[in-house]
Amino acid sequence: MKTVEILGVRINNVTMAEAVETVKGLLEKNAPSAVYTPNSEIIYRAKNDEEFKNVLNSSDLNVADGIGVVYGAKILGTPIPERVAGYDLACNLLPVMNEKKAKLFLFGGKEGVGQRAKENILKKYPDINIVGIKNGYFTDSAPIIEAINETEPDFVFVCLGAPKQEKWIHENKEKLKCRVMMGIGGSLDVFAGEAERAPDIFIKMNLEWFYRLMKNPSRIGRMMDLPKFGIAVALSRVTKKS
Ligand code: UDP
Repeated sequence: MKTVEILGVRINNVTMAEAVETVKGLLEKNAPSAVYTPNSEIIYRAKNDEEFKNVLNSSDLNVADGIGVVYGAKILGTPIPERVAGYDLACNLLPVMNEKKAKLFLFGGKEGVGQRAKENILKKYPDINIVGIKNGYFTDSAPIIEAINETEPDFVFVCLGAPKQEKWIHENKEKLKCRVMMGIGGSLDVFAGEAERAPDIFIKMNLEWFYRLMKNPSRIGRMMDLPKFGIAVALSRVTKKS
């Protein structure tokens, strides 16, 4: 599989359809796999956090979650075909899970979010076997690991926000009996109907970030990483050339 490197973070150069096929392949492996969905904020953070960068680079699949990553790859002269948002990848995997009657474990979000996400997912995909739910506010990982190991899920949606979710997956991977673990941030909130995805027009115009900022102006601090990311990528291009 082709990859590109942005500020030291490996991104797999895949379309959505290829990402779905890759995950199907990971399901066949007899060991847990990690799928991460870095956006520009996450990559910029990893630039200054070596441990986090190593965690991201040790995954089985990293998809380009944000349009910033797509532009970053273009600036570096190594374009990637399209944005593969974590939530969209999860949505595209639900029919696969339904067909396989796969076991899915929902981990993350506030108390109640997982249950509401389960109800909404099952309305459309009744054959998915949602075998467990744990909220994302915990002090001890042991009961979560136990619940996952008791149910041996095919998929675990790990929705704790970055970098917590990626670090949790990395730290516990060896102890877990499951197949594909996906770090997909606020996706359970969207499945639960607590948070909305931006309207299609914003997504098509690559302005989902702007919509999210309008809805939640407190994201401005995090968003300031976006221009810093752009500058860092442009500088890394210059250094690479020289
Ligand atoms: N969250 C959690 N445990 C924590 C911190 C956050 O379960 O200790 C959840 C939070 O409730 C939300 C998600 O993680 O559902 C993070 O959402 P955010 O929109 O920040 O993530 P993004 O998709 O932007 O990475």
